[in-house]
Amino acid sequence: MVGDGFIINHSTNSSNKLESPKKTKKKKKRGGTKKKMTTEQTLAFKSVSEWVFLEQASSLPSTAASCVVDDFGVQKSLGRGGDKVVFELHSHSKCSDGFLSPSKLVERAHGNGVKVLALTDHDTMSGIPEALEAARRFRIKIIPGVEISTKFYPRGSEPLAEEAIQMICDTGGVAVLAHPWSLKNPVTIIKRLKEAGLHGIEVYRSDGKLAVYSDLAETYDLLKLGGSDYHGRGGHGESELGSVNLPVLVLRDFLKVARPIWCRSIRHILENYAEEPSDFNLAKITRFGKGVSPVSCGKDLIDRCLSSWLTNEERQNAVFEAVRLKLSHVSINQGGIQVPIESK
Ligand SMILES: [Zn+2]
Repeated sequence: MVGDGFIINHSTNSSNKLESPKKTKKKKKRGGTKKKMTTEQTLAFKSVSEWVFLEQASSLPSTAASCVVDDFGVQKSLGRGGDKVVFELHSHSKCSDGFLSPSKLVERAHGNGVKVLALTDHDTMSGIPEALEAARRFRIKIIPGVEISTKFYPRGSEPLAEEAIQMICDTGGVAVLAHPWSLKNPVTIIKRLKEAGLHGIEVYRSDGKLAVYSDLAETYDLLKLGGSDYHGRGGHGESELGSVNLPVLVLRDFLKVARPIWCRSIRHILENYAEEPSDFNLAKITRFGKGVSPVSCGKDLIDRCLSSWLTNEERQNAVFEAVRLKLSHVSINQGGIQVPIESK
């Protein structure tokens, strides 16, 4: 049997809600479901926002305490001007079987209030560069992802699920089992995949949280995640991009697991470049980077590739400082001009 897939998240997580003004009104009328955030939710919201708005520190909500949440604990509005932290962790572009180009997908996500978007095309990451480029314009964070088709028993040409998980873990990703509801024997498989290193399973859909899989996630200590699996087909049954509400505690837990993984991965990439400053290794750095202008020095290079992923505190970590120091002896070849990297 062919398993659906794994979503590798190089960085992301998500939840969101679509709130056109009309819908907002509707929700308000419903009433009774909103309540103040608990202290735990407030703290979670702060830490999630800090990461989401790393590059826009000034736009951090001033008073998270004024947020209201619905029964899921999803914040409805922030202290400032109704900003939201919406994550969409599962989406497809026409680079696989979706209908929108990566940039159109990003534009749509932005229109729906998504702040963090994972592009998870089937078996390809070819749409990521275009998505990153578009995301700069809309100030959205992209989590490079891929949905890997696997099988659960040795047969056919697809990789075994365990192999896919191993590959994801080896490359600094977060391994998430997509749509477990399509499995015939989820308990056996999830147990096996957990042993192989699985980090989470999809539990949230636009129609809510699926209790069976949520319980399984708890039993096997897995992250509970989810996303719309948006393809842009336009049918009535399709969940809109950004329409799956992920509770703020879920986002916090996701980042708690994912960020150290990404952090380690970034560190390795930088260290490799410091060891062997080839164009090949440089390309690995700049694909995480922001902006297309050439870097002029090592500080630029490091800051650029870290700015959207690490907090100031994390960047000042001794390990990164050591890499910075190493890179001070390396020059970058850009268009034939040797640019010395200066450490700061
Ligand atoms: Zn999918």
